[in-house]
Amino acid sequence: MMKSSFSLGRILGIPVAVHVSWLVIFVLITWSLGGSYFPHQYPDWPPALAWAVGLATSLLFFVSVLVHELAHSAVARAKGLPVRGIVLFIFGGVSEITEEPRTAGMEFTMALVGPLSSFILAGLFAVLWLAAGPVSQPLAAFSLYLASINALLGAFNLIPGFPLDGGRVLRAILWGISRNLEEATRWASLVGQGVAYLFILIGVWQVFGGNWLNGLWIAFIGWFLDNAAQTSYRQVAVQRLLTGHAVREIMSQDCEPLPPRLTLEELVHEHVLATGRRCYPVMEGEQVRGLLTIHNIKTVPRERWGTTVVEEVMTPLEKLKTVGPNQGLWSALEEMTAEGVNQLPVMEGHRLLGILARDSVLTFIHTRAELGV
Ligand SMILES: [Zn+2]
Repeated sequence: MMKSSFSLGRILGIPVAVHVSWLVIFVLITWSLGGSYFPHQYPDWPPALAWAVGLATSLLFFVSVLVHELAHSAVARAKGLPVRGIVLFIFGGVSEITEEPRTAGMEFTMALVGPLSSFILAGLFAVLWLAAGPVSQPLAAFSLYLASINALLGAFNLIPGFPLDGGRVLRAILWGISRNLEEATRWASLVGQGVAYLFILIGVWQVFGGNWLNGLWIAFIGWFLDNAAQTSYRQVAVQRLLTGHAVREIMSQDCEPLPPRLTLEELVHEHVLATGRRCYPVMEGEQVRGLLTIHNIKTVPRERWGTTVVEEVMTPLEKLKTVGPNQGLWSALEEMTAEGVNQLPVMEGHRLLGILARDSVLTFIHTRAELGV
């Protein structure tokens, strides 16, 4: 999950969370609908009605974005890809699917169901608008707005710039033709960056035309798209560099085991400062009890280092995510990122073989990228 987000529970078994930045966009949309859009369109509405319809529209807009993401996530899960959850944030929603699709066909379907669900929602709200027209003006206004915004959402996501849905569709097609995922990603990302620059250009042009709020917003989206395109491409490139390499190749085996009753004072002065190592397995005989890192030590105030022993502050084995020696480096790196840690113990059964550190993975990547091998 993205940092600073709060959970809304599970829908269809998929964890849903809201990032704090989403509150900004929620307030902005409600404010512009209730305070400006509806009062201008329907001047005879009392302000309370405009605000109520504004709030309801804003909430349903949020539900619409969620439906779009649920479509992606549900298909991904049905195809056997791990889905960590959905996060709603300032630019909409994102499905955290932790593995790349395995085939071009899979990617094509996964990408397309999002915009498709937005268009279906647009159709449903359009029907509601037609039905409500003669009965209730507020309901008609509400459904007209949601029909248009969902159609817009579907269309925006179909822009063929990776990592937007349309860019994923483009990548799936290129991938299907070339049979080369990395090449396909490179081209789809380049188109994505082109689209991003176009957004920035249009945004700047709008700002100079006096429409500065809209212009800034469009430029901001362009900047976000540019970042996303570069990050996604880099991710695929890194994945290619790591494919075929296993944890055992770069794990460090010179781990210095610590006894569980060692005090932090002794640890810091006799081990950490002397060796510069940042991570220690805590062992009792042959048995691994847990892992101690610099981070654990920092949670204890200095004056208590003399009286605190390592087993009190270590991360116990049962709470540790571990990797096997033959696990692929890419999936190990993903696990590290998912857990928010910088090292993982490498275990075979109950035996500790070594420690895999994020630094070593990054050095491995840099060396290979630099040599072009
Ligand atoms: Zn989508």
